[in-house]
Amino acid sequence: MRRILIISLSFLFLSQLQLRADEGMWIPLLLQSIEGDMQAQGMKMSAEDIYSVNHSSLKDAVVLFGGGCTGELISDQGLLLTNHHCGRGNIRARSTLENNYLRDGFWATKKSDELPNPGLSVTFIVRMEDVTEQVLEGISDNMDEGRRNALIGQKSEALAQEAVKGSHYDAYVRPFYYGNAFYLIVTEKFSDVRLVGTPPDDIGKFGGDTDNWVWPRHTCDFSMFRIYADKDGKPADYSPENVPFKPRHSFPISLRDKKEGDFTLVFGFPGTTQEYLPAAAVKYIIEEEDPLKIGLRDLRLEVMNREMKADSAVFLQYASKQSGVANAWKKWKGEVLGLTKTNKLAVKKAYEAEFQKRVDANPEWKKKYGNILSDFESLYENYGPARTDILYFFEGAMSIEAVSWGNQVSELIRTMEKGDASDDKIKEIAEKLEQRSQSFFRDYSAVIDREIMGKILAQYQKDYAKDKLPDVFQTIDSKFGGNTQAYADDLFERSQFLDPARFESALGKLKLKKLLKDPLYQLVQSFVGPYPTTILPRYQAVAGELEPLNRLYMEAQLAVFGEEKAFYPDANSTLRVTYGKIEGFSPTDGVNYTHYTTLDGLITKNESGHDDFAMPKRLGELYKSGDFGRYAQDGKLWTCFLASNHTTGGNSGSPTIDAEGNLIGINFDRCWESTMSDISYDVSLCRNISVDIRFVLYIVDKYGNAGALLEEMKIVE
Ligand code: ASP
Repeated sequence: MRRILIISLSFLFLSQLQLRADEGMWIPLLLQSIEGDMQAQGMKMSAEDIYSVNHSSLKDAVVLFGGGCTGELISDQGLLLTNHHCGRGNIRARSTLENNYLRDGFWATKKSDELPNPGLSVTFIVRMEDVTEQVLEGISDNMDEGRRNALIGQKSEALAQEAVKGSHYDAYVRPFYYGNAFYLIVTEKFSDVRLVGTPPDDIGKFGGDTDNWVWPRHTCDFSMFRIYADKDGKPADYSPENVPFKPRHSFPISLRDKKEGDFTLVFGFPGTTQEYLPAAAVKYIIEEEDPLKIGLRDLRLEVMNREMKADSAVFLQYASKQSGVANAWKKWKGEVLGLTKTNKLAVKKAYEAEFQKRVDANPEWKKKYGNILSDFESLYENYGPARTDILYFFEGAMSIEAVSWGNQVSELIRTMEKGDASDDKIKEIAEKLEQRSQSFFRDYSAVIDREIMGKILAQYQKDYAKDKLPDVFQTIDSKFGGNTQAYADDLFERSQFLDPARFESALGKLKLKKLLKDPLYQLVQSFVGPYPTTILPRYQAVAGELEPLNRLYMEAQLAVFGEEKAFYPDANSTLRVTYGKIEGFSPTDGVNYTHYTTLDGLITKNESGHDDFAMPKRLGELYKSGDFGRYAQDGKLWTCFLASNHTTGGNSGSPTIDAEGNLIGINFDRCWESTMSDISYDVSLCRNISVDIRFVLYIVDKYGNAGALLEEMKIVE
């Protein structure tokens, strides 16, 4: 069976010729089989030009930026582009109230001005290899899951170690198709990555939360970094002696005119998609999971947004946190909208009915796959409540900063209470906490968090039956008449852990009795206590049953529909290619989205006076001068454009490439209606948004006066 499956997986790639161009995130190693289709769509390159281990190819200019974005090399001196929102955490960390790069932007005029970023790294893919046969050898269908996973883990580890023996590379093996296939991935990681330039927030984040996930869009979402290496071109920790890294490939940049229908390719590291979920899962997501997460984040955002607006120091403290919270919040809203609009639940159900019909008609399939759908139905009955508790834990309790901080402090208290750790050990934990407290308090507003605590606790009170609420609610009822805000106010008043001076003094004294009595410790115990004993095991039990069922369902779908439907593997943060074309769409009756926007639109938004559309004065002056130089198309400066590339989170910062392999934009977002593509891609609604590379260079050159950087680039006109 295993062999048949492997053969059928490669057959799937061969049969992809009949597929639509837009849907799918393809493994670069396997592009040969779809090369013909890509070329039929207008691509002028070969599969080897995109991915090759024998000579330089586009893949050598694409990096995983930090943990979850993509970046691309644009010069032979290690110059790299990514999104502003991907670099923003580092830009923020380099900013102070005096040198506020978030607000004012930053441009290094010479290499020695570039700013190091401790903790930031970029990772190249050296090569990928299909190791399915090696990993699954000796694994049988009816093997116990624990044993299966352990064996796969051991083999993967051995293959990875073998692959990097005697080199400075790293390697890992990743499952694809829910563990029906495995790939070895060899990587090279660089950790001296310096900030070269960024526009101010009002350009790089223009449109703010209002425009996030929205078209028409005018955000110049880019930032620029440079990779440094030792003198031999090898990765090295930051050192002033390091030199700019010379990549095997860097993207030429095209300033040529573009038009609707032009071929586009996006190359990057999409994070997670779930295209093959059963209807029962999609129903849970649409009706319960997304609404629940959205509701809990509504509470937090209302407080954060208000307080950030009122105080610029708080704005700086919460800039990254707020963006993180708002980003997913708005995405989930769009996801529900798109899935509902395209009636995906009914579509999935119809697909499943057809699946069942075909399976029932084939005795072999019936025996193996006949009960999959009914098993899903009954599993999801238990999954829902178990998952909901998990969501409350992370999106509720742990989203209160005091609670997650208190949880860290509690480790010390628990260790002291156990009584078996040496004084030195306790001192060591206390010292670590003291260090961590510095970064915690630096970006912490007790005013914000206190109100959030009151609101989140009130939501628990509303949504959970009394007997299912954590113990702390008894105190809230008995001492505070059920008023969660009064409880939170009192806790913030009395806790020793939420104020830097009091915390330092508590650490200095380490009085166990007093620590145990701290109201934050008690709150944490009440929420965190049941997590490992009840909440997590209950969830794990259902998730553990779902895992083999998902794998079997994937195998079954490949067997049943493999010859007529595209089965690209779900995104899993590995390098993927997606191709499509520049095109607009109609999100709703009577509305047509054009495929590009221009600086005119940015100015119009700015004139609305809305805070999210603030722009630097100088940009207005530049606009008035009307001098867009070589960056204009028919006298207009394109800002962003739409295309039908299947992208997701993690594709942020990915190069958007033309038919010849030139950089034409940086992918940074999708339209609101399009975020459903994480669960089900639909070409009628799914578009990715890129910032036009000409807008980027215009800002670097005319706004940032950093035109010298352009001299490093290869510009195609
Ligand atoms: N904005 C997303 C990101 O941050 C990209 C996307 O989901 O389309 O990765």
